[in-house]
Amino acid sequence: MDRALTDDDDPLIDDDQEAYVPPPPVSTDIPAPRTETPEAPEAPRGGGAATGRAYGPAAPPYAPTSPYAPAAPPVDAARRVRPCWQCGHPLPPGTSSCPECLEPTRHLRLIGSRPRLDLRHGEGAPLRLGRHPVWARPEVFGALQCEREVSRCHAVVQLAPDGTLWLTENPRGTANGTYVNHERIPRGGRVRLEDGDVIGLGEKVAFTVLLPDPAG
Ligand SMILES: [Zn+2]
Repeated sequence: MDRALTDDDDPLIDDDQEAYVPPPPVSTDIPAPRTETPEAPEAPRGGGAATGRAYGPAAPPYAPTSPYAPAAPPVDAARRVRPCWQCGHPLPPGTSSCPECLEPTRHLRLIGSRPRLDLRHGEGAPLRLGRHPVWARPEVFGALQCEREVSRCHAVVQLAPDGTLWLTENPRGTANGTYVNHERIPRGGRVRLEDGDVIGLGEKVAFTVLLPDPAG
């Protein structure tokens, strides 16, 4: 405060700045010293250092909104309302199918970098992987159509109603084989998958299969 008063060109503004010293670390997008100037006109009215003090306590309220504070109150993940993976409708915890689009909340996610693919598929119906323009799921066909190593009807991934996940190769087999975590499965075989398994259609095309939180 004494320092503020000795700064003769504009002691009040300076004093005001002092009061705002705490906020700058709070938010990086507020260029600290400059943003206070809008507030400055208020200070002179108070006339002197006394008001400078009065502004002092104003700073603390900024603290709780600090982005550095624990961002969101730690909400129990299981209790969070989440959007339906299919339509985005909010799902109350424990919902097994979306009240809006009726899709089961349980689903699998298939992610690939070659070819680039990221899709979700509900439980029940098989997710058809191949280069067949009608048989395969459209997004899959779109991603695989130029991958000559992949058979037209290569394999299906299916999330069973009991939550288990299965990969089944075309019963007639495929030219280049189907792999789980780089290990070839028997011709026309059916194997159980785990969350995070990598399935290969031939040796070059691979996808990771995930089992997201049902309401995630
Ligand atoms: Zn929905």
